[in-house]
Amino acid sequence: MTLDLRTLGFVVIISITLQTLALVLQWRASRELSGPGWWALGNAGIVGGFASLFVMGPLHLGPLMFVASATAWVSGLACLYQGVRRFLGQPTPQRLVVALLVGVTVCTAYFTFLDDHVAYRRGTLALFAVVFSLLITLALGRASSASRPTRALMGTFVASGVFFLARSVANFTSDAVGEAPAGGLLPWFLPQTVAGLAVLVLTTLWTYGFILLVSQRRLLEQREAKAALERTLAELEIERDHAQASARSDSLTQVPNRRAFDEALRAEFYRLKRSGAHKLSLLLLDVDHFKQFNDLYGHPAGDACLRRIAAALKTVVKRAPDMVARYGGEEFAVILPDTDGPGTLAVAERIRRVIEELALPHSASATAKVVTVSVGAVCITASRVADPESVLELADKALYRAKARGRNRVDFDLALMSATNSQPPPMGLVRLVWREGTESGNATIDAQHRALFAAANELLSALVEGRNKELCTLLLEALRTGIETHLRDEEVILRAAGYPATDAHARGHDALLARMAEIAAEYARDELSISDAFSFLAYDVIVQHLFIEDAKFFQHLAGTPAPTKTSAGVAESDVRAN
Ligand code: GH3
Ligand code: MG
Ligand code: MG
Repeated sequence: MTLDLRTLGFVVIISITLQTLALVLQWRASRELSGPGWWALGNAGIVGGFASLFVMGPLHLGPLMFVASATAWVSGLACLYQGVRRFLGQPTPQRLVVALLVGVTVCTAYFTFLDDHVAYRRGTLALFAVVFSLLITLALGRASSASRPTRALMGTFVASGVFFLARSVANFTSDAVGEAPAGGLLPWFLPQTVAGLAVLVLTTLWTYGFILLVSQRRLLEQREAKAALERTLAELEIERDHAQASARSDSLTQVPNRRAFDEALRAEFYRLKRSGAHKLSLLLLDVDHFKQFNDLYGHPAGDACLRRIAAALKTVVKRAPDMVARYGGEEFAVILPDTDGPGTLAVAERIRRVIEELALPHSASATAKVVTVSVGAVCITASRVADPESVLELADKALYRAKARGRNRVDFDLALMSATNSQPPPMGLVRLVWREGTESGNATIDAQHRALFAAANELLSALVEGRNKELCTLLLEALRTGIETHLRDEEVILRAAGYPATDAHARGHDALLARMAEIAAEYARDELSISDAFSFLAYDVIVQHLFIEDAKFFQHLAGTPAPTKTSAGVAESDVRAN
């Protein structure tokens, strides 16, 4: 194979020129990086060095061109070196570089003007190229991250060094090397052609290497920026979660605050509305005579007391969907989703007792010698209440009654008992059945009648099923309070309606309440039989009072003729065992 040396020269020049353009473009795209600009400049110097040799002949520029060409060539390599060190953040030994450039100029000038020796001139030039290849290799070797592009570039410059060393040795040891007429056809293995091909390959390789180096740096920077961004985002998220948590937690007692409670009540309320099949209970607690506690023991002791109460509440209320919250000053709220009336009462009573059993001394309390709480309880079904505020209102009213009735006690919304388990009772269970058509026409009285039916059924079920005494006592108490409230409300309504027999009716109420108290006492002494309980509830309360006595004023309230006994629903079938 033969090669036209001049053609090879042009190919080399065109190739390095294109590479220089690529490096210039890369430099423009990444100006903030130091290095790429020097590499573009270095390649330009090498092109200049080559090109000058080609124009020298036709332009008759004489031997000066040898010196200029050699200096341009080695300056190009010096620029590549400078670029590598800058890119890797290493300071450049400027004096060494200047000394080498002066050295190559002086040596080439010597072998041109003083001792015109082409081979020595080329040998010297190659020797300086070896020195710069070595310097670049060492700089790359000191790079902190020995990445793949760095190692590949090192390999290229090691190969350059070996090639230039071989060329230098060849030129210093043989006079005949390279003495071929420029532009002639040469076999490929002659030094001139090998040199041209080697420069073509080496420059192409290191240009690729430089471009890879920058791309990898960019990739690393992007990864680092992404990681930093992710870290910042994670930190922000943690801070946000922390801020959100502290915005929803009460700093004194470490339970959810009013805001969190409002949100939870709202969420549970609308969940109930959507599903329809569940119940929602709410307890409102208020510490009794807490102002006196503060006055006597001081505010810090008051704070400590609230913390003890919150901690105790958390020991009672620990089912996953339940929530204890600080509602305000010395008031707490408890949300109990999916809990029926008796369950709600049981939790309320347990809370009252647990706080009492904390035995925190309160010698200024008119209620007990220790800190106590009053609890208002409500249990609603989906259809009963229109909005969450109404649930709170009902609980608040119950709490008010608990306070009014002596504190350290649980009071409840009367309808709480009707929100009991809607499952039908087991077969054979005694149960009172409400019959449609036995309404008085007064909404309050009718709602209370229905609620009392439900409460009576709940008590009967508990008695028949032999449920524990604590629960039965609570249900008995619930019914007693329910009857009491209802009878008093009924008296108020009857008086307001001008019912003439109100006083007589009220006396009947007193007798009923007295019997109710006896029933409760009998139960406490374990002397209440189920048939006694049933006969009192079914006959005394329901048949005798609700259906017979109350039926008398139905007509007065409705302004219609008095219904007959039968139409008022007083029949054996209204009280049946199913
Ligand atoms: P009642 O039995 O009727 O509830 O009487 P009370 O004294 O508890 O009720 P009142 O509403 O008159 O007083 C509540 C007191 O609770 C007033 C206030 O000094 C106290 N209090 C409210 N918040 C805090 C608190 O964060 N720390 C302390 N130490 N006391 C509080
Ligand atoms: Mg209060
Ligand atoms: Mg209070």
